[in-house]
Amino acid sequence: MAFFRNLSKFSAIKASSTSRLRNADPFVLSSFTWLSYLSTRISDEKIEPVQCSGLGPTKPHEKPRVVVLGSGWAGCRLMKGLDPKLYDIVCVSPRNHMVFTPLLASTCVGTLEFRSVAEPIGRIQPAISTEPGSYFFLANCTGIDANKHVVHCETVTEGIETPEPWRFSVSYDKLVIALGSQPSTFGIHGVKEHAIFLREVYHAQEIRRRLLLNLMLSDVPGITEEEKRRLLHCVVVGGGPTGVEFSGELSDFIMRDVRQRYAHVKDYIHVTLIEANEILSSFDDRLRGYATKQLTKSGVRLVRGIVKGVKADKILLDDGTEVPYGLLVWSTGVGPSPIIHSLDLPKAPGGRIGVDEWLRVPSVQDVFSIGDCSGFVESTGKPTLPALAQVAERQGKYLANLLNKIGNGGGGRAECAKDIELGEEFVYKHLGSMATIGRFKALVDLRESKEAKGVSLAGFFSFFIWRSAYLTRVVSWRNRFYVVINWVTTLVFGRDISRI
Ligand SMILES: Cc1cc2nc3c(=O)[nH]c(=O)nc-3n(C[C@H](O)[C@H](O)[C@H](O)COP(=O)(O)OP(=O)(O)OC[C@H]3O[C@@H](n4cnc5c(N)ncnc54)[C@H](O)[C@@H]3O)c2cc1C
Repeated sequence: MAFFRNLSKFSAIKASSTSRLRNADPFVLSSFTWLSYLSTRISDEKIEPVQCSGLGPTKPHEKPRVVVLGSGWAGCRLMKGLDPKLYDIVCVSPRNHMVFTPLLASTCVGTLEFRSVAEPIGRIQPAISTEPGSYFFLANCTGIDANKHVVHCETVTEGIETPEPWRFSVSYDKLVIALGSQPSTFGIHGVKEHAIFLREVYHAQEIRRRLLLNLMLSDVPGITEEEKRRLLHCVVVGGGPTGVEFSGELSDFIMRDVRQRYAHVKDYIHVTLIEANEILSSFDDRLRGYATKQLTKSGVRLVRGIVKGVKADKILLDDGTEVPYGLLVWSTGVGPSPIIHSLDLPKAPGGRIGVDEWLRVPSVQDVFSIGDCSGFVESTGKPTLPALAQVAERQGKYLANLLNKIGNGGGGRAECAKDIELGEEFVYKHLGSMATIGRFKALVDLRESKEAKGVSLAGFFSFFIWRSAYLTRVVSWRNRFYVVINWVTTLVFGRDISRI
């Protein structure tokens, strides 16, 4: 109640200043009002919180507003390319940074620091921090009313002393849905409760803490042999690039750092990679064979199996095998998240949000969707694109140019772009795939598909290409610098093993 009382005081102050502003300029409210709309209704004695309103429709003297849902690869690349002279940009996302996912696995074992892979949004698009009509809202989108051009949001409070999250809405002239995907668990019992996913920085932090905790617990006096083996058994489920890269990082960590710094338990720690089919199925036989050989050499145990259930201390496979574990990382691909399922918008095969050739959501005005959450509607005849950063990034870049073109052509406002010539449709050309496998080795396949002709390499030189390629893709010079410093520090001094 105290919280709402304070909020009401704040609202009352805001309300009086708002009325002054209203007298001064009937249009001046827009950037201001959303906080004052976090209002309370004050009756004689009782103060009742009411639903806040948020950012209303843009006024004629204001810039049109692009609302971007999500701060991942797609949303951030889009915001970077949007012209802030044409649009006010409002981003709604539960995290205020973009995660450079290709290097995330390296942070789990301390090869890189967490900050090196997180890029603040204000650096990607400075207008968000400086322009009066542009904002970042730390919130989840909970719904979209495409007819009214409004998105509904709820703040992320993460258990901080707030009675409940605040709800607000934001009107848009153009809406870009870039909400990504969520890890697939295939409904397997116990995965959500006991496994750790690898998608966000906080996942990597949890993995690092658990790994170091288990290493230290296994060293205490009186612990049984069996428990020691369980604690130090790291299991990765899913043999795609993420699962393989993480297994490679883990085996490097064990071979170099654990052997030196946890010599008492070095013979107990093991990595098992469980995959239902082939590992790295997107690579050709030769590269897959190379990866299998290298991983096995590094001590990674490859197990072909289907997980049927997960308990707090063991995994159950379909052949009845029980696999005890101390750390379980789940990386079996992604699918649409509940918010995507819940949106009343056209869908592509697989449940993603359907888009046309220009990444517009058909049958609604001014709504676009990019990245992992979107797919071409069946009528386009185009296949669903893979859930990859290179797809998301290029869609973001394409859409930024398209929206700038629309804005320059006078179609930036809601319902105003019907007569604008859109130009070329979005075309995706696959640039190839890369994956590290540990021990300074990587796979690089620069072909459009594994059947096509072109360059495909494996080994140290590929590792060098992998590192150089991703270093150039890191968004800012600041983080590029961090990454290089982290790599050099790790090479010279080993990984950081403090459990902070
Ligand atoms: C560990 C790892 C390694 C990878 N390596 C590679 C690689 O080497 N090469 C490659 O091409 N791809 C790689 N990928 C895949 C790549 O990261 C994804 O394809 C890419 O992130 C998709 O971008 P996106 O913007 O669609 O989604 P994301 O980057 O996932 O962003 C989604 C955004 O939406 C936000 N969001 C979620 N729900 C809500 C909500 N309700 N309201 C508001 N915001 C919300 C999220 O917080 C996030 O900011 C990797 C992925 C992982 C996890």
